[in-house]
Amino acid sequence: MAGTIAIKNGHVFDPLNEINGDKMDIFIRNGKVVTELSASELKDAKEIDASGKTVMPGGVDSHSHVAGAKVNVGRMMRPEDHYKFYQKKTPITHSGCGYSVPSVYLGGYEYSKMGYTTVFEAAVPPMEARHTHEEMRSTPMLDMGGYLVLGNNWFLMRYLKEGDMEKAAAYVAWMMKTHKTYGIKCVNPAGVENWGWGENVSALDQANIHFEVTPEDIIKGLTEINEMLGFPMPVHLHANNLGHPGCWEITRDSLKIPKPVKARPNTSVEWAETKVNPKRHESVYLTHCQFNAFGGTSWRDFESGVKGITDYVNNHEHVVMDSGCVPFGDATVMTGDGPAIHDLYVLTGHKWSNTDVECECGSGVLPFTYLKNNPVHSVQWAMGLEVLLYVDDPWKVIMTTDSPNGGPFIKYPQVIAWLMSNKARQDTFNECHKWAQDRTDLSAEAREMSLYDIATITRANSARTIGMSHSKGTLGIGADGDVAIYDIDPTKLEVSDYESIIRGFENAAYTIKEGQVVSQKGEIVAIPEKKTYYTDISTSADDEKNMLDDVKNWFKYYTIGFNNYPTPDKYLANPTPIKIDAEV
Ligand SMILES: [Zn+2]
Repeated sequence: MAGTIAIKNGHVFDPLNEINGDKMDIFIRNGKVVTELSASELKDAKEIDASGKTVMPGGVDSHSHVAGAKVNVGRMMRPEDHYKFYQKKTPITHSGCGYSVPSVYLGGYEYSKMGYTTVFEAAVPPMEARHTHEEMRSTPMLDMGGYLVLGNNWFLMRYLKEGDMEKAAAYVAWMMKTHKTYGIKCVNPAGVENWGWGENVSALDQANIHFEVTPEDIIKGLTEINEMLGFPMPVHLHANNLGHPGCWEITRDSLKIPKPVKARPNTSVEWAETKVNPKRHESVYLTHCQFNAFGGTSWRDFESGVKGITDYVNNHEHVVMDSGCVPFGDATVMTGDGPAIHDLYVLTGHKWSNTDVECECGSGVLPFTYLKNNPVHSVQWAMGLEVLLYVDDPWKVIMTTDSPNGGPFIKYPQVIAWLMSNKARQDTFNECHKWAQDRTDLSAEAREMSLYDIATITRANSARTIGMSHSKGTLGIGADGDVAIYDIDPTKLEVSDYESIIRGFENAAYTIKEGQVVSQKGEIVAIPEKKTYYTDISTSADDEKNMLDDVKNWFKYYTIGFNNYPTPDKYLANPTPIKIDAEV
């Protein structure tokens, strides 16, 4: 029977069900986790002996740049990336290449080999949604969705300036279903718009040119709209002043703005069984904290400012964040934050590209290499790990490299090794610039994460944060049968032998997607069906009509016709709407 499998005797790590390494069996029927299989079903089912192995739900990446226009620009800007890392076709796979920015095919295969089954694209400019969906549709192995970039949108800034929250909410709801995207992304609020005049903003109360709205207005407005509409995930925030010494303060102050906003996700979905409350209670999801946690006042006295943010997160319940770790080596910096990339270009002289997406947003791309002997890069390496280790509760953090900004996602096993093994960290301190020791507190941190912690920050919490734990990030009854089986025996694991951790997480013994083995020990063995999630919100017909009259009127400023703006269903692989009936 397709999608039916019995995984026997593995050590299961399923944090949403508080299962911590218990030896147990997992059964999947027709792609969904079930309590058991009947004797006759068992006879036909595939059976995997997972004894001496680690079993987790399939990995869920809640922030990665894998599809869309700026990712493609990254591919074009890095021909050298293609020689370094490539794969030949096999009878079932395409060929592919690209180290820091892989082709869509290779990206899907590489995630699957590491046991990941779900990845969300971190930034979709509305006008580029069709192209982003084309690339997501072509990315094999993964269920996907994308976050719509709205933090510098002209229509929204006008409504916020006028204080018209009903129309602003109607606009966000309409944009989300029009572009078939999943959640709200807010990048350098008010600043990217100023970049159109060669400026940025540097304070939360600084109004931008022309629209005269502040970062604070936008963060407050978007987080309120997010909860008025009942989105599955919190507003996903890339804070102002990214990459500048001292930026940790504005990041912490940005997190204070949504504190009074009460989370009220309102999705109508069937929830898999979980012990932990699977619904989010956070009103903001800060991304790549490391890049927004720089301390000091210049590059001379640059230091980690991570503690200032993690102290705040430890003491408040409305924030969840991902790390943006820096594992050294080649990266490609790509973001909707055009001015931040320009500053990096001025600093490094590397080639760079920049785009202004009409009335909506912008982006910048710049190839980059993090070096162990570079003082700033060494501090950034330590800072990314500090973000994850200094927050006491693993349910408040998610492990990412902001791929490919801090480094490509294929480095996740290396990051896991640093988190689990103090020896791995000390060995890297010995190899990198002394600033890593002198200007961060990481070398004094003795915490070593457990496999349970790792399962939390790589699947359970990423799924919970973005409102996907109804089916992902858990092995509870009714969940999608997505499973990763790693060749790591928790009863014999010595974390000082961190190479074995890297090896174990690099190539899953089995990656199972909806009950089907899709990759095995680094080899792709089946190409599964995939889904694309988006949030389908309906607001009142009157609000939508009034708002659309404005949009159609203003659309004369666009270079495309209104009818060509929406993304039709055919651009998506198995379009899967998450329905919300908004109460506005
Ligand atoms: Zn990002």
